[in-house]
Amino acid sequence: MKNFLLRSSIFLEHDTGQHVENAGRLAAIFHRLGECPGWTPLDPRAALEAEIQLCHQSQVTEKLAQITSEGGGWADGDTCVSPRSWEVARLAVGGGLRLLEEVVTSRGQGFALVRPPGHHATPVRSMGFCLYSNIAIAARYAREKLGLERVFVLDWDVHHGNGTQDCLESSPEIGFVSFHQWPLYPGSGWYDERGQGNLYNLPLPAGCGDAEYLFAMHYLVRPVLQKWDPQLLLVSCGYDAHASDPLGSMGISTSGFGQMAALLAEWCPQALRVGFLEGGYHPQALAQSVEATLRAWENKPEASQRPRPEQFSSAFLKRIYEAEEFWKR
Ligand SMILES: [Zn+2]
Repeated sequence: MKNFLLRSSIFLEHDTGQHVENAGRLAAIFHRLGECPGWTPLDPRAALEAEIQLCHQSQVTEKLAQITSEGGGWADGDTCVSPRSWEVARLAVGGGLRLLEEVVTSRGQGFALVRPPGHHATPVRSMGFCLYSNIAIAARYAREKLGLERVFVLDWDVHHGNGTQDCLESSPEIGFVSFHQWPLYPGSGWYDERGQGNLYNLPLPAGCGDAEYLFAMHYLVRPVLQKWDPQLLLVSCGYDAHASDPLGSMGISTSGFGQMAALLAEWCPQALRVGFLEGGYHPQALAQSVEATLRAWENKPEASQRPRPEQFSSAFLKRIYEAEEFWKR
């Protein structure tokens, strides 16, 4: 299987200064991975506006153009737009599409080391550090331009992928699972948000670690993946559920991310896989966790056991069993 890594120093030019989502995150990943043997580097291309409009209304681009013409500013209270951010955001979207094309052509797998991240950007606005919805555009592109029928998106970022959800909620042919701490920004992602039956939300209590996430993967996600049998699995790889992360209050370890990645490879061995970088705000933990994800995907994953439920809090188990009820509807 051929492995592709979308990486470019141009993604450092989305200059957010001292903002928590800053270029130092990606620099830490580049430093950790080095040459990253085994992964063929790919350069991005700029997305066409027509590609962006697979998910976004024109007002999203119009606002970014306006802020850029004013020399930079803020798309919302959290979302910094530097003079080059709009251009870099188009390269993040188009880079993801180029990566996807390579993965489809070669029957391989890939990872997009992009910023700005994307999973909070909705059809009508940039928000939550995200300018365009990189992964949702890729999902629509895979269906509409590359002819893949069964596309599934999984989001393990600590925040709800509200933008991805809003972009895909009226696309019953594309499945979407989001695990997230709840309550937490942006506040959406309760179980009852099912779209056309294609959305699966798991709002988790704070304090969940490897065992809780792996149990949820086995108990809830595996049956859904078996049902959908995806040809293409897109993963919103946010690493802010890491124990060291300053924004999340979860406890996933570096190897926990590798184990989740390995489970996806084990359960969907025929699926093409593409990861997209989302959050993760402790630079070293982020870099190590990205590396653990790539290692899990390049090695043949080992079969893993489902953790036993006796060890879990009642607050966690309540969310799991409630989610199970809603996910069946
Ligand atoms: Zn996040």
